[in-house]
Amino acid sequence: MRAVTGPAPQRPPRVLVADDDGTTRTLIRHHLETSGHEVLEAKNGAEALRLAREGAPDVVLMDVVMPVMDGFAACRAIRCLPENGQVPILMITGLDDGASIEAAYEAGATDFSSKPIQWASLRHRIRYMVRQKLTADRLRDSEARLANAQRIARMGHWEWEVDGGRLRWSDELYTILGVRPYRFDGTLDGLLELVHREERDQVERAFKAAAVEGVPLSVTYRITHPEQGRKVIHQEAEMVTRPGQPRRMVGTLQDVSEQCRAEERIAHLALYDPLTDLPNRKLFKDLLARALKVATTHPAAPTAVMFVGLDRFKRINDTLGHEVGDTILKQTAQRLRDSLDTWAEWLRPRPEVVISRFGGDEFTVILERMTQPDDAARAARQILDSMARPFHAGGEEIYITTSIGIALYPGDGDSVSALLRNADAALRHAKGQGKNTFQFYAQSMNGNAMHRLSLESKLQKAVENGELELHYQPKVDVRRGNVTGMEALVRWRHPELGMISPANFVPIAEESGLIGPIGEWVLREACFQNKRWQNAGLTPMMVSVNVSAHQFWQRDLPERVACTLVEANLDPRYLELEITEGTFMHDAEETVRMLTDLKHIGLRLSVDDFGTGYSSLAYLQRFPIDTLKVDRSFVTGVTTNPDSAAITRTIINMAHSLGLGVIAEGVETPEQFAFLAEQGCNQIQGYLFSAPLTAERFGTLIAERRRLDVKGMLAGARAADPLALGE
Ligand code: C2E
Ligand code: MG
Ligand code: MG
Repeated sequence: MRAVTGPAPQRPPRVLVADDDGTTRTLIRHHLETSGHEVLEAKNGAEALRLAREGAPDVVLMDVVMPVMDGFAACRAIRCLPENGQVPILMITGLDDGASIEAAYEAGATDFSSKPIQWASLRHRIRYMVRQKLTADRLRDSEARLANAQRIARMGHWEWEVDGGRLRWSDELYTILGVRPYRFDGTLDGLLELVHREERDQVERAFKAAAVEGVPLSVTYRITHPEQGRKVIHQEAEMVTRPGQPRRMVGTLQDVSEQCRAEERIAHLALYDPLTDLPNRKLFKDLLARALKVATTHPAAPTAVMFVGLDRFKRINDTLGHEVGDTILKQTAQRLRDSLDTWAEWLRPRPEVVISRFGGDEFTVILERMTQPDDAARAARQILDSMARPFHAGGEEIYITTSIGIALYPGDGDSVSALLRNADAALRHAKGQGKNTFQFYAQSMNGNAMHRLSLESKLQKAVENGELELHYQPKVDVRRGNVTGMEALVRWRHPELGMISPANFVPIAEESGLIGPIGEWVLREACFQNKRWQNAGLTPMMVSVNVSAHQFWQRDLPERVACTLVEANLDPRYLELEITEGTFMHDAEETVRMLTDLKHIGLRLSVDDFGTGYSSLAYLQRFPIDTLKVDRSFVTGVTTNPDSAAITRTIINMAHSLGLGVIAEGVETPEQFAFLAEQGCNQIQGYLFSAPLTAERFGTLIAERRRLDVKGMLAGARAADPLALGE
């Protein structure tokens, strides 16, 4: 860092007199002091050098011929001093010849004068030289100050010779841009190379426009500093044209990163709540307006606005203090984020969620692109549950109840203000209902949602209370009639409602995310039960487990299945997963990947309800599957509906041509069986042989080696309807 010297102090001009002759020195001192100068004396060149450095003279009068060091040498030495090296030096000598004058100027003297001294003119010359020195000092000071100011402002200046292409800049720019001087080639291209790739063209265009059209340059761009990372640079410049001189552009370059960060912070403060870091009311309204614009183009995907209010929050603030209140608000924000995250996780496609602190103890939420309005009810339930856990603040355990109001777009309003007003009205209504509850603005929504939610919360308890059980339906070999495996089918034995069919609760479980724990339980139970039968000495056979779409798309499904098999100590070849056809028609690549991962475990894969999902043959060929399961709706019609018969026949042929096995589900009559046997179907499953059985009854059936009377079936079918078999 260069020291900045201030302006010369207000003191008399100081003159250093170097002469080996004491009388001359005394005379000069006398004359100068009477005309208001301060005088320093040196007896030889060496002393003069020391005093020039330490005494800060404004002018030096220097004799030439002196002992120790002569005047020329002293003059040269003074010029090399880092401080005061520019002091004016007047050489005074008796040698009035041309060579001496030449030597004096060469040594760096400012002026030359010969003895005898002309006192009158000496005073003027000294005054002139002092003034000259002060001017030079001031100029140097101001240069140093400029450099310092630029360094503090992280700014530097540069000059570009437009036609010559040379770019010159001040030292500060190397530091700002993080460029080594020897690395920089001094061209505009060299500078542009430092600019962030996305902005380079724009900066180059600005330079060209400034050079060609003379418009002032003003650009801001990003660079990556090798040590300091991302920086924001601002550059300003103007063309300077002087007749007869090359065209130049002169400008400044400034590191404005700090400033930008501060601006970003200010912008953030204007749009986000500082306590919770959630969007504030203003940003929320903007985001809602944007969401509504998007929603108009997606009429099938409802959007909801929620008002979430903390009940009696004011009392907490008043009794426990604002700090506790703040902590609770922060925790509330976090719980809202977490619970809505969990909620969104289970929905396909995943909805968008915006949470904001609308003010005080009120939070607002946008739920975008939901599948159905009921999803909003589930989101509200999720929030209420998460808020029911006690809060911990100020060493206290605090319970807070929450109320939620929901308005749906466009039914409850098609503008930001209408939706907010109605969600707010719904919130007031919810509070009036005894709190810790939610209300839709449209009353008709409430009963509907309540019914589903009550079933949902009952289902949740079903898993916890062990109300689920597995039944097993045998699969039978068509030719030999023996049992080859079984499908595990879940049942819900509700203490009051009795047995509930999976057709009624599996869809709810899927939508609420409960299918996760339920599916896990089914898989475990099926594997463990199958192993128990094997351990009991029954013929080992395959158990099929249904995997729903949501389960299938969980990334860790293969890992979980593999773990369960290890835990149950069941050989993977005794496990089959049934995946409904509709599950994987959306994304063939992902499906192949997931099926392949599952297949690597060593289990078998079957496509359930086949025929209902419009799979293309091209897809099927690529899927590593083992079996197609003809949907019951076709099987039911094979003997009565020519379309069903044709479809079933086609599926069987197609499966065989792809090297896949075929099983028909829902086989109830000998006629259906006969048709399937005739077509070469490999296995059947249905009431014809057995309904799903409890584990105990299934075990007995196997132990007794019961089998299907194939011959009897075919004979019966022929007797009943000879035409059905095409005879
Ligand atoms: P699915 O996988 O196609 O299962 C076959 C359904 O047809 C079963 O109904 C079964 O009881 C029924 N069924 C079997 N034979 C006959 C018959 O001859 N006639 C008639 N009318 N029906 C027959 P269930 O047990 O009610 O299961 C319905 C659906 O629920 C299943 O269809 C499956 O998609 C799902 N499901 C059942 N258990 C589970 C499970 O553990 N996990 C998952 N994710 N889904 C399951
Ligand atoms: Mg099935
Ligand atoms: Mg099925």
